[in-house]
Amino acid sequence: MNNTPSNIPLLAVESLSKKFGGTTANDNITMQVNKGEIVGVIGPNGSGKSTLFNLICGTFPVDTGVIRFNGKDITRLPTAAIACAGLVRTFQQTRVYRVMSCIDNMRISAPTASGWTRPLPPQTDDDAMELLSFVGLENKREWRAGELSFGQQKLLELAMALIARPTLLLLDEPTAGINPTLINGVLARLKTVNQKFGITLLVIEHNMRVIMNLAHRIYCLAHGQMLAEGLPAQIQNDPRVIDAYLGRQ
Ligand code: ADP
Ligand code: MG
Repeated sequence: MNNTPSNIPLLAVESLSKKFGGTTANDNITMQVNKGEIVGVIGPNGSGKSTLFNLICGTFPVDTGVIRFNGKDITRLPTAAIACAGLVRTFQQTRVYRVMSCIDNMRISAPTASGWTRPLPPQTDDDAMELLSFVGLENKREWRAGELSFGQQKLLELAMALIARPTLLLLDEPTAGINPTLINGVLARLKTVNQKFGITLLVIEHNMRVIMNLAHRIYCLAHGQMLAEGLPAQIQNDPRVIDAYLGRQ
């Protein structure tokens, strides 16, 4: 499959707001992700990026606003229903099952025809091995996930997300904590996920080189608000972004 960015909205976030006590974590956020795109989300620490993901995926209830996925209102749906619909995420703090083997982590992440109920179809182990190979963990299939390096755990988490066959994958800082020499490998894999697997990506990323290289389009948050949106070159040269974010690096 050759995936080309389109103008067809896959995810539409409209006027989304969320407060935690006196903190406004997301303030009237509006954004859109089109089918086939890789969209970046940047912003200083505490600007509301992870909260935005938590709202989109149903981890936290929204205060106000609407989230549409594939034209359907998913604002009040539970996380599992959103994942079943094809919207899957990874976490900033990786979530793998540390005492379970890599292959078992893959098995429990695989959906079945009727959702996530057991038993698994026979195809699952083939898919699991193919994806473990894709992330370079085929020789570690019987290792406990907790024995992997942090970077390898992030790659396992990526494979676990992919076995759910998302149409939209949300990645929260996929290169954070990864050895710099391995970052290019993650970058190349994410491009393959988009172009060859045909999966649309929404990526929070702290590494400017990575996101400028990866994203077709970028949104920048600051203090919970949408500060700027544009092509990587526009964002990189936007004085508001430089002031809010790049200038402080
Ligand atoms: P980012 O991912 O951009 O670093 P977050 O979305 O994690 O930012 O946080 C945005 C703001 O919301 C911060 O002030 C943070 O302390 C606050 N916040 C996030 N999650 C919670 C929570 N579960 N409870 C209370 N405050 C939270
Ligand atoms: Mg975060």
